[in-house]
Amino acid sequence: MPTYRELLAQTKAEIDEIGTPEAHERLGTADAPLFLDIREVDEWQEGHIAGALHIPRGNLESRVEGLVPDKSREIFIYCAAGSRSAFAAKALGELGYTDVASVAGGFSDWKRNGYTFTTPKTLSPAQRSRYSRHLLIPEVGDEGQQKLLGARVLLIGAGGLGSPASLYLAAAGVGTLGIVDADVVDDSNLQRQIVHSTERLGEPKVLSAKRTIEALNPDVTVIPYEERLTSDNVERIVGAGWDVIVDGADNFPTRYLVNDASVWHDVPVVHGSIYRFEGQVTVFEPGAGPCYRCLFPSPPPPELAPSCAEGGVLGVLPGIVGSLQASEALKLILGVGETLTGRLLLFDALHTTFDEVSVKRDPTCPVCGEHPTITEYVDYVEFCNLAGRGVAS
Ligand SMILES: [Zn+2]
Repeated sequence: MPTYRELLAQTKAEIDEIGTPEAHERLGTADAPLFLDIREVDEWQEGHIAGALHIPRGNLESRVEGLVPDKSREIFIYCAAGSRSAFAAKALGELGYTDVASVAGGFSDWKRNGYTFTTPKTLSPAQRSRYSRHLLIPEVGDEGQQKLLGARVLLIGAGGLGSPASLYLAAAGVGTLGIVDADVVDDSNLQRQIVHSTERLGEPKVLSAKRTIEALNPDVTVIPYEERLTSDNVERIVGAGWDVIVDGADNFPTRYLVNDASVWHDVPVVHGSIYRFEGQVTVFEPGAGPCYRCLFPSPPPPELAPSCAEGGVLGVLPGIVGSLQASEALKLILGVGETLTGRLLLFDALHTTFDEVSVKRDPTCPVCGEHPTITEYVDYVEFCNLAGRGVAS
């Protein structure tokens, strides 16, 4: 029986090895090989070569064919010092991989030579526990949860739609939530605006929402904008670097400002609207589908607007529509699934039906079309309710 040293020497004689300077030279080139890191999870998390694929040694044989189906692909395999990777290179050869080299000296030598590497952020034990049901879903997992924690979502309105949307986004661990709302909590809000409460009556909605959200999840930072969106402040607020906008506005002037800003800043908008028993949700993703103005180029003239009586709404309806908006926002951040881009989802609570109509980008759209005619923010005069185009918040 050979000793470990003899076995290692024998294995190294049977495989190809490459030094870290040669391996480093190939990193990031047009014909760069696949860097395969076979160390344990804790070693990987302390730092690894950028772009490397991680398969711990214990799972190598079982996982590699699924992750690297092309057996002729050039692979540089590394561990901490070059011993485990030598055995792993031999194992890959036995599986039929034809162009495998073990990086002599491994990651220790790589670091000693001063070559750059990345250190992934890791979830704390408390976060692992809080987001455990996300970590169990392959489409989210560790990486997806990090994306959520690093994401920034702007909510237009802390009302009926903004309440459930902000609560679920916060619970999911979306790290930064901006909330725009100029109103204070009124007792007529509490039938549906569940982010507020009776003890917050008279308090600015953005501050009430901030308190509720930060009590729910201390990982979340809330940026309150206690102001009404206008052509004067929209650039400052929407331009502050958001991944997604969740639009729960209750008026047309805001809808148009949000739309135009989102097109110009290339930020997807998850649009929601509610009226009595009916709700609508869609995603306006600049470049990938229509914008709000593709569907409604400009507001209807004030004389055609209906009466100014407040629009009624079934209390639970914004809970359903706002939750759908949160779901779309999470998918946009994670880059998974199929969003409502190009599809308008219609919900009828009275008959419990979901319908969907396809909506298309308009090449003559005044904002996102081929020859835009609107290139500056427009302040429309506010007028009242219009069924189906979403008002009650
Ligand atoms: Zn458009």
